[in-house]
Amino acid sequence: HSPLKLHQIRVKSSLPQNFNSYETLRQLYNPRVPEYFNFAKDVLDEWETKEKHLQHRENSGQPAFWWVNDGGDEIRWSFEELGFHSRRLANVLTGECQLHRGDRVLLILPRIPEWWLVNIACLRTGTVLIPGTAQLTARDILHRLQTSQAKCVVTDESLAPLLDSVASECSSLQAKLLVSDRKREGWLRLGDLLRSASAEHVCVDTRSSEAMTIFFTSGTTGSPKMTQHSHCSYGIGLTVNGRYWLDLTHRDVMWNTSDTGWAKSAWSSVFAPWIQGACVFVHHMPRFDTARVLQTLSRYPITAFCTAPTAYRMLVQEDLSRYTFPSLQHCLCAGEPINPEVMGKWKEATGLDIYEGYGQTETVLIAGTFKGMKIKPGSFGKPSPAYDVQVIDDEGNVVPQGTEGNLAIRVKPHKPFCLFTEYTGDAQRTAECFRGDFYLTGDRGIQDEDGYLWFVGRSDDVILSAGYRIGPFEVENALIEHGAVAESAVVSSPDPIRGEVVKAFVVLSSEYKTRSHDELRVELQAHVKRVTAPYKYPRKIEFVEQLPKTVSGKIRRVELRNKEWGRG
Ligand code: ATP
Ligand code: MG
Repeated sequence: HSPLKLHQIRVKSSLPQNFNSYETLRQLYNPRVPEYFNFAKDVLDEWETKEKHLQHRENSGQPAFWWVNDGGDEIRWSFEELGFHSRRLANVLTGECQLHRGDRVLLILPRIPEWWLVNIACLRTGTVLIPGTAQLTARDILHRLQTSQAKCVVTDESLAPLLDSVASECSSLQAKLLVSDRKREGWLRLGDLLRSASAEHVCVDTRSSEAMTIFFTSGTTGSPKMTQHSHCSYGIGLTVNGRYWLDLTHRDVMWNTSDTGWAKSAWSSVFAPWIQGACVFVHHMPRFDTARVLQTLSRYPITAFCTAPTAYRMLVQEDLSRYTFPSLQHCLCAGEPINPEVMGKWKEATGLDIYEGYGQTETVLIAGTFKGMKIKPGSFGKPSPAYDVQVIDDEGNVVPQGTEGNLAIRVKPHKPFCLFTEYTGDAQRTAECFRGDFYLTGDRGIQDEDGYLWFVGRSDDVILSAGYRIGPFEVENALIEHGAVAESAVVSSPDPIRGEVVKAFVVLSSEYKTRSHDELRVELQAHVKRVTAPYKYPRKIEFVEQLPKTVSGKIRRVELRNKEWGRG
């Protein structure tokens, strides 16, 4: 197949011509939350009508959904086709699967087109979608089925046996849908049912406040939490992501690499791009392969690209001068802090800045760098207009600018409509997130005199050494500026005199792998003392082949810390 050559198809920004300041952004943001809202009906079906009048789509063949895999297979669906397939799937859910509005559906599929169809079909039927990563174990699945009381599960051949091994312990489960060419005892085959299903379906009129989805947090600090959102929360709340942070229009092709199990896939591979009528691009890769990613970025007319900081760290280790990215205009990252060094290298090679976003499964974008705003590397930008973000002390008082504190969102007198409803089945945990007038993110940060927010670390990751508070991110940023360091994780380690000291786990870049560790240790310590306040330097350094990470690629400092302190 020959991919389209659609250079520079994004001719304008979603932001108005006069958009030049953060203040304009706050003025522009004016969401209306109606009593009833359904993303399939109110957004996707609207685009289905509108796309017929969008000349460029017809001329260029730009779809609403564009899927490719490593084998050269390709699927392109317009909004009309997405509508057609998802209405048939909606009929399967209410027909053969006998699901009713409010019933829960566990969806465990890799990045295959059916994942998107199930997402939309759940919206159409008012069933509550619970996406899970394909890397779940039988125990994880059992826990999720029992906590959620899901009535239906959708998965593929690789996970069906795991499901069958625990299904007898899940009395609520009434339908199992299989995405496969082969038959399996006790399972309904989605493909067969779709073929015979009607494409006529009337979308359920869901209330804005009705439950829409339950996403799992990444499990960076402990076991993942089930986080429930309403129809308006992601469906309307992610407008701020799509319009202002991703800056998408219906001319854009957006590629976000997240795994289907995490909220980031709802943000940037479903709601935010489709709110703007943009094309959702998906490359189904069995694993993150840097060369493939770069080929895809240069080969397809992708205008906006979002991936995790860990992925950018891998990408800048490649020889980027071997590629050109003719269509790429906007690069983004979220999920962890991005090192200024990595942003610099990416810009040098592509000419493009990386716009950072900060948010949680529990929220939509909390803060970010928005188009037209000066980027201060190391800061994740300014608060999203959707929230009143403050830095507060442990008693719930706002602290002065320049002081470290808890990053928090004001929830009184009005709880923002785009904040999660609850942790499913865990009222106590939900209550613990709220203090005084605020929702606590569990992260620590500082606001500077220009209103930019700086990430210090997750509350548990901050190191207290000889009276100093040290955020791991600053030390990691200093380390990665040295050519020897591909990436690192900084945690506290016990010390008889100081109580805690800074310890760095360092993955060496390929050129330094054979160098003497003793020499490198001294060199890196001197380097950190030179580029940052000397008290932050890592007194201990251990060289490792890799760092412990979540499935979504986040560094699990908690694991390293527990090892240091002989816990867990
Ligand atoms: P768990 O809550 O299960 O421990 P998690 O917090 O990693 O996992 P997510 O909801 O996926 O689960 O991630 C949100 C967290 O990711 C934030 O609270 C913050 O710690 C971190 N994060 C996200 N974006 C950024 C960013 N731009 N800079 C720094 N940290 C970020
Ligand atoms: Mg969290």
